[in-house]
Amino acid sequence: MSKYTAEKSVWINEGGRVVCRNHGGDYLRSAIAHGDGPHILTPLDDWLYHSPEIVTLHNLTCEDCQRIEVHDG
Ligand SMILES: [Zn+2]
Repeated sequence: MSKYTAEKSVWINEGGRVVCRNHGGDYLRSAIAHGDGPHILTPLDDWLYHSPEIVTLHNLTCEDCQRIEVHDG
């Protein structure tokens, strides 16, 4: 089992794109399922795992689904 599938975790690529593990594409998804991380190189991108703690700290959300709920006080 992968350690990098925590709820609310995100992946950020070298270009600054922020996605959840479902929206990083097939290469990223299969690499995560394979147990790779926290740094994953795919033929298309260079991804770095960000834990839920970092996500909360910096208010990061997946650019595709944006389903991570952020409560702004
Ligand atoms: Zn997403």
